[in-house]
Amino acid sequence: MIRARFVLMAAALLITATAPAFAQADAKLNAYKADATRGVDELAKMAQEMVDSVFSFGELGFQEVETSKYLTGLLEAQGFKVQRGVSGIPTAWVATWGSGKPVIALGSDIDGIPQASQKPGVAYRDPLIVGAPGHGEGHNTGMPLNIVAAIAVKRIMERDKLPGTLMLWPGVAEEQLASKAWFVRDGMFKDVDVTLFTHVGSNLGVSWGDGGGNGMMSVEYTFEGETAHSAGAPWRGRSAMDAVELMNAGWNYRREHLRLSQRSHYVITNGGDQPNVVPRNASVWYYFRENDREHIQELWDIGNKMAEGAALMTNTKWTSRILGTAYPQHMNKTVAEVVYENIKKVGLPQWSEADQALAKGLQKELGNPRQEGLATQLGELGGPVKNEDNYGGGSDDIGDVSWTVPTVTLRFPANIPGLPGHNWSSAIASATPIAHKGVVAGAKVQAMTVLDLMTRPELVKQAWDYFRNVQTKDRQYVPFITKDTPPAIHLNEDILAKYRAEMKKFYYDPTKFGTYLEQLGIQYPTLRPAGSKPQ
Ligand SMILES: [Zn+2]
Repeated sequence: MIRARFVLMAAALLITATAPAFAQADAKLNAYKADATRGVDELAKMAQEMVDSVFSFGELGFQEVETSKYLTGLLEAQGFKVQRGVSGIPTAWVATWGSGKPVIALGSDIDGIPQASQKPGVAYRDPLIVGAPGHGEGHNTGMPLNIVAAIAVKRIMERDKLPGTLMLWPGVAEEQLASKAWFVRDGMFKDVDVTLFTHVGSNLGVSWGDGGGNGMMSVEYTFEGETAHSAGAPWRGRSAMDAVELMNAGWNYRREHLRLSQRSHYVITNGGDQPNVVPRNASVWYYFRENDREHIQELWDIGNKMAEGAALMTNTKWTSRILGTAYPQHMNKTVAEVVYENIKKVGLPQWSEADQALAKGLQKELGNPRQEGLATQLGELGGPVKNEDNYGGGSDDIGDVSWTVPTVTLRFPANIPGLPGHNWSSAIASATPIAHKGVVAGAKVQAMTVLDLMTRPELVKQAWDYFRNVQTKDRQYVPFITKDTPPAIHLNEDILAKYRAEMKKFYYDPTKFGTYLEQLGIQYPTLRPAGSKPQ
């Protein structure tokens, strides 16, 4: 009894002693966040220049040469230490600044989409260069957001001598799902406490738990036969292209008997040389997508059987090669809740009439049933998607990171709602005031979250508690790649070789022009003239 009373008294004393300390710490953190918000606003011009520059490079996965040179140059000028060529990927890098714990990693994708060249600010299909790649998803916006957030936080850390390390890293070749599992394998995240990933969207948002969409395996199958004169002696040849076609026919019949949550698609990457030579070599590249590791593996195994069957039928040989992989995502609850509080503080950007006119004009152009314009209301904090409710969709190799270290993805409103994705239409807003404002809003959230994690060690502890005792309690990360799986850095070489010289003529020059729109002489927004028909 006496002992109990003593404990109560001691507890009461502790509360009176620490309550002002908490209030003080809170006030300090709020002041830091106000400083960061101001800092990001001051860097808005830099954000616009980065967004427009990376947009103008328009590079595809593994060929982000100009993009990486430009971004790492900026970071070095800001005092970051840069390590290049990470994981044997020439365009991959890690930039760090500061020292000690916590280590907060800020990541975002940097690659573009084939056939997505498009004039920004123009609400209909109007390529800069016909056939060239471009930022048809908006991946030009994420690293500028992280860089601005990091600089704003760094200034506060320097001023108040706060311990901690900022680490920035790019999602290389995200469209091929081809770098992050390699970064994880090679230890990029081994000292990281929390990863704050960010991805373009059409609202500010974050979620935790199992994500919707699929994980995936990307595999290229190559068949080898024998050439012969296709007319003179076809019986002496064995066609690798026949094997590709039979594999695809087999897969397409089997598709009816696969789970509803699967997505699978392929392109023929080599269909032979010319019709009068029986194709000796032919290749087909598959994406196998499913909800969980077991079912992804199952699809991949079926793919291997189809290849085996096709080889038997055609008397050819087959081999396969992993080109990419993305683990199903699981985002951290603690960190998502912190991000969401900051989202509420920052709120959505103020859209101008011109911004809304561009958005509605494009939504109309695409035949969307509703032309709702840009987002004006925040969504809720997203929660876990149950496996049985997950009917699949896209993938992001941030999944591999999310099973390695507490991770979330912040979505920010740099694009127009209701677009098909992986398409020229997603490039339209990506170098306009919509993207510039969306990046500034996102950078504020990102900077505030970094400050939360830097100054409240209990959050990092809670995040790891969730990671260890909830997320990975019954499930382990079993990567699909091994220590010997090389990254597929040859991808997209040929496309860039074909278009780069022409694309160079359109690189943004911020020393001469206020914005990329100005450089291109585009009036913002440019809408389809009344009465004219979509092409
Ligand atoms: Zn993406």
